[in-house]
Formats: sequence, C-alpha cells, structure tokens
Amino acid sequence: MALENLRNLYQQVILEHYKKPRHRGTTVLVHRQQRGHNPSCGDTIELTVQLDEDRDRIAAVKFEGEGCAIAMLSADLMADAMTGKTIDEALQMVQAFQNMMKGDGEFPREHRKLNVMQGVAQFPVRIKCATLTWHTLRAALEHQQIETADEFVSNEEID
Ligand code: ZN
Repeated sequence: MALENLRNLYQQVILEHYKKPRHRGTTVLVHRQQRGHNPSCGDTIELTVQLDEDRDRIAAVKFEGEGCAIAMLSADLMADAMTGKTIDEALQMVQAFQNMMKGDGEFPREHRKLNVMQGVAQFPVRIKCATLTWHTLRAALEHQQIETADEFVSNEEID
C-alpha cells in the first residue's frame, strides 16, 4: 500500500476506532470470556464473545481493559473484523495478523483497516501491544469452558 494511502487510512482508523471505540463493553450473552495481559507494557484486556445460535460463528466481540493506544486500537479493530466470522475463519485471521506483524503478508481489501497495524511492526517492543487482543481471542475460542475466565493468558512467551 502506498505510504500516502496508509497515512490517510491510519488517521481514519484512529478517529473511528480509537477516539470512539465501537466494541468496548461486554457482549449481551457471554459464550466465551478471556483475560489477557501483556507484561512488557502493562496492557490488560478482557474479551467477551457472543456466538450465534449454532455456536460456530461469532455474533459479537467486546473488550474491556486498560492499556496503551496501540493495544486499545488493535482490540477495537479486531472486534470489528471478527463480527460474523466462523470460529475457523477467526482463528485463521489471528494467524494472519501474527504473520503480518512479523512482516509476512497483509489483509485483503475487506479488512484493509487492519493493515495500519503494520506500522507498529517497525517497533518490536510494541508488537505485543498489537497482538495481545488477537492472542487473547484465540485463547477464548480454543477454550470450550467459561471457567477459564479467571486465568490470564500472557503473551510473554510469544516472539
Ligand atoms: Zn501496550
């Protein structure tokens, strides 16, 4: 993506998703719940996920938590992108995001807003801020039981 386009997109994304997050809060029905923590920056996040009636598609994702701008922006973008995805599609997107943060690939036009997070990949210490919410979502989707809600996942072991 051309630098000028990326800069314009970045400003639009900051306005839409950081200054006025659309997905803060908790879902009406909570089918999955997971807390995540990024010790290197101090970001914490708690995701709630509502699934559809067949339990195979994400109806909504909401987040609560405190953290730096990158962590909060990434959480709102992630929640936006995940709405309506099947669990398999969601897990593939988590992998694609983590690959992108290692400099490998980017998202197609449908999810081009996520590509603004590529800028963060230039600052290795902040990559965990961006990936925290994705890592936490994966843990939420992979755990079948809600009892894990009191455990934090940490992304400290991820490169
Ligand atoms: Zn952070």
